[in-house]
Amino acid sequence: KTKAIGFIGLGNMGFWMVTNLANKLPANSKIHVFDIIPALMDDICTKYPERVIGCSGPKDVADKSDIIITMLPEGRHVKEVYMGPGGICSSDVGEKLLIDCSTIDTGSFLEVKDHITKKFPRTSFYDAPVSGGVIGAERGTIAFFLGCAEDDTNDIQELKQLFSLMGSKVIQCGGASFGLAAKLSNNYLSGMISIIASEAMDMGMRSGLDPRVLARVYAAGTAQNTICDSFNPVPGISPDAPSSNGYRNGFKVQLMKRDISLALDMARRVGSTNVMGSVGLQTFKEASEDERCKDSDSRVVFRYLGGNED
Ligand code: NAD
Repeated sequence: KTKAIGFIGLGNMGFWMVTNLANKLPANSKIHVFDIIPALMDDICTKYPERVIGCSGPKDVADKSDIIITMLPEGRHVKEVYMGPGGICSSDVGEKLLIDCSTIDTGSFLEVKDHITKKFPRTSFYDAPVSGGVIGAERGTIAFFLGCAEDDTNDIQELKQLFSLMGSKVIQCGGASFGLAAKLSNNYLSGMISIIASEAMDMGMRSGLDPRVLARVYAAGTAQNTICDSFNPVPGISPDAPSSNGYRNGFKVQLMKRDISLALDMARRVGSTNVMGSVGLQTFKEASEDERCKDSDSRVVFRYLGGNED
């Protein structure tokens, strides 16, 4: 029997993930969707009238689906959608497969997992946050960081098959919530590199160096990294990067601030020493509140720090 898919959260990422599912799933499979913004449901249902079906709430989605994916902004939304009144857990999810792809704190995820396990011991629930941005979601090239070990689940083939319709990579990170821990650690590193890369580029440029030469030096030297190679914070170095397009259509600076903040909470909880984090968080916080920077791609820290964009 073809399994019915449920999808909750049709925002910047969810819309494209559902679009890819609708384009690639076998012809007879249905996708049951819900978002609190009715216009977002109308958009996708109108685009795929035979295939994508709007629902009245998370319980309705869960009643009608065998596999349910959530893609929501924050931990509180995830808790509400699973455990709140009319939530997924008010449906009998029995042996269904539940996957949360949101970037949230590990504590919220584990709280929901605990709730599900107590109520429905046979239900599978995984964290599978993604990386690759809105462009990656549209192109179907996002990476999934899956919270399970290499060989601990019968669900793995099904999960990999499903993720291959929306992305191009799956990394199994260990156990429950490890996908989220990996994602937060990744964004911490990538965010901090964006700041330090902006500073390094700026000091070189003020010393008279051509920024293109600097980027080539890093690429050939010990500082080689993806931010400088493909998402250089200085406009004009990486042609497809948000910085070369007015810092538009990237990963918003306020989302980076939130992820760094979640990463620092995690670091504190596990007793990890952290000397750079508070400065990084403060920098992204101030950039998020700066009129010239807010709502722009996080690499706009180069502008915030006074870099020369000409
Ligand atoms: P978004 O805000 O565009 O979309 C979230 C959607 O969830 C919205 O449409 C909202 O209406 C809906 N929603 C909120 N509460 C709901 C509820 N109770 N019931 C149903 N729907 C509800 O966010 P996004 O950019 O799509 O990101 C989603 C998640 O993915 C976030 O955790 C984000 O950090 C993460 N993420 C985003 C990117 C990116 O580049 N945008 C990249 C990787 C990961």
